[in-house]
Amino acid sequence: RIDTSFESGVKVQSEAMFQRAKQVIPGGISANIKYFPPHPIVMKQANGSHLIDVDDQRYIDYLLCYGALITGHGHDRIVKATTEHMQQIGTTIFGTPHELEVKMAEKLINLYPGIDMVRFTNSGLEATLLAIRMAIAYTGKEKIGKFEGHYHGGFNQVLLSVNPSEKEAGNPRQPHAIPESKGIPTHELKQTIILPFNDLEATENILRENAHQLAAIIIEPIQGGFIPAEPEFINGLRKLTEDLDILLIFDEVKTGFRVHLGGAQSVYQIKPDLTALGKVLGGGFPVGAVGGKKDIMMISAPTQESDIFSVGGESRRKNDVVFHSGTYNGHPIVLAAGLETIRLLEEDHTMEKLFNKTSRLRSSLEKLYRQYDIPMKTIGMGSIFNIILTNQPIRNYRDMWKANSSLRQTIDLELLNLGIYVKPLNRYSLSIVHTEEDINQTVEAHEQAIVKAIM
Ligand code: PLP
Repeated sequence: RIDTSFESGVKVQSEAMFQRAKQVIPGGISANIKYFPPHPIVMKQANGSHLIDVDDQRYIDYLLCYGALITGHGHDRIVKATTEHMQQIGTTIFGTPHELEVKMAEKLINLYPGIDMVRFTNSGLEATLLAIRMAIAYTGKEKIGKFEGHYHGGFNQVLLSVNPSEKEAGNPRQPHAIPESKGIPTHELKQTIILPFNDLEATENILRENAHQLAAIIIEPIQGGFIPAEPEFINGLRKLTEDLDILLIFDEVKTGFRVHLGGAQSVYQIKPDLTALGKVLGGGFPVGAVGGKKDIMMISAPTQESDIFSVGGESRRKNDVVFHSGTYNGHPIVLAAGLETIRLLEEDHTMEKLFNKTSRLRSSLEKLYRQYDIPMKTIGMGSIFNIILTNQPIRNYRDMWKANSSLRQTIDLELLNLGIYVKPLNRYSLSIVHTEEDINQTVEAHEQAIVKAIM
């Protein structure tokens, strides 16, 4: 049974607000990913691990702003750090260099094995875009490789084959480049080569054939935050890219601070050439960062006025400087929130406790689904996981086609009726303020949702 409605009379204000939004905002949402049928739920307040919607329904939040809110909503320490910093500096932003940029860069260099230097951006997308531009400038080659099913933000070079259908995806060992949006010029499809995740042999064949044109391979070391690269695969990829003079970019926007304080690269003990960060790094404010090896990062460093801009259409720019700019880059209040977030995570075995709590939720859910004879597994790492309704192995994007996503969708919508907030079919992220009671209530709600879905 596929259910696409909410219990009647429960989300009335949400629906009314969504109808109003649709008159003035295309689709009623400010990011396409925030839409789901029958309609998104409109929130008005949040606190700790909870969201409250415009109908006054309370939810235990496992979306956590797509994983960004590892300290939950409105953590006292984050609120204090940001308001005090604003009072102390007397402004919201200087528009000049300031100390917190240096402090955060020093912190990231300490935590991330692949990072010697850092540049800040305002989003994860800007970080992956800058990393790719740096790689192209540094290597003098123009194409990039990305893996099928991996998301790196919504720009043309990488908005390909993130979510292709079974019909269009092509040979599993040599996937097609499928645009995920209208408006991507066809010639751009040729600039990105699509690779099969966790298939070292097929990846190697494609890389060897295209090495002379490939500046970089970008990868989510844990696809979608929940399908881990197999150690043999990722170690093989590191070696292969080194041998073939292709840079390796780890997109750790999701995994940074969530699977380890030092990201997936600390778990796998691999040094990528460049790393993109975002989400947790901003403590709930918009952020991104690119870090990497010094000689690559230095390609964005101007040393004279003429490195910055061309004037009057006549280029005075040195060819070897990569342009990187942004009005809000390195925003002090964002970095105050991010630094306080990292401090919180470093204290008192916080990460360990968070991971243990996540494991307890995962194993309780697995046990519950077993009791109802529903094929199910949880996969993920650290504080993120997903629920996959299958017994089959899940090693890449295509394996997800085997899962019973219509049952999952029905359960997810019922969970929204029962006060558990997960975007249908999305992964679960936990925060340091989720309680044992939250976990118990979540498991109980799953049981009610399962019973309703299978009856
Ligand atoms: N890379 C990954 C792995 C992501 O998960 C995301 C966002 O979900 C991005 C890049 C883009 O980040 P942002 O939404 O901050 O632009």
